Amino acid sequence: QELEKKKLAEIEKKMGEGEPIYSKKRFDECGISPWTVKALSAAGYFLMTRVQEATLSVCLEGKDALVKAKTGTGKTAAFLLPAIETVLKAASTSTVQRVPPVFVLILCPTRELASQLAAEANALLKYHNGIGVQTLVGGTRFKVDQKRLESEPCQIIVATPGRLLDHVENKSTLSVRLMGLKMLILDEADHLLDLGFRKDVEKIVDCLPRQRQSLLFSATIPKEVRRISQLVLKREHAFIDTVGL
Ligand code: ADP
Ligand code: MG
Repeated sequence: QELEKKKLAEIEKKMGEGEPIYSKKRFDECGISPWTVKALSAAGYFLMTRVQEATLSVCLEGKDALVKAKTGTGKTAAFLLPAIETVLKAASTSTVQRVPPVFVLILCPTRELASQLAAEANALLKYHNGIGVQTLVGGTRFKVDQKRLESEPCQIIVATPGRLLDHVENKSTLSVRLMGLKMLILDEADHLLDLGFRKDVEKIVDCLPRQRQSLLFSATIPKEVRRISQLVLKREHAFIDTVGL
């Protein structure tokens, strides 16, 4: 309660200084799992940012989205919240399978970002039992990846494109598990393409189920991001631009 008051006061102060990144909506009134809301509170998150509110409502309608928002506006939770809802829904409707499906795949440009995203996901999953996040990045041994994937729960994967493509091209067990994919997320899409990951992303997307929800996040939307968005997203997707909100 103390934490909440303090955080809300901080936010009010920022808003007073003309920083309109927050919406008026609280996490406990946006229709997500109460266990996630509890974890958000523990992390000091009470009010949604605008990009979080906009993305969540589009996602809950089942639509794809291209999301443009500045750095520091809370894009990570904006995709992790719908990702977690997707896992909860998929897990409650799917039967036990010999090779358990990976429901959400998050692609990002660097190892450092991948571990940050996984850490935030783990924080939000604090009160959910049996839901696991694994990272797949370059620099670790392929065999070590595979052991970890087999022995630990992994409904969400955060990966850099190169390493994920290794798995897909080697037809590892992971490529079978990805057949159950429900949601694909590209974070920092502009940066992904700057680093030359376009081909890798295209090859990965080619191997994923067509029936999925996809979200693409970027601080800027240059031509290349537009192009990859046409490949990744359904034609009828929402465009969320927080400048225009
Ligand atoms: P972006 O990816 O848009 O640059 P991040 O997701 O990294 O932004 O979030 C920026 C910072 O704001 C992080 O420190 C994060 O913990 C914090 N944050 C995000 N959403 C909220 C929220 N709703 N309430 C409080 N802090 C938040
Ligand atoms: Mg980010």
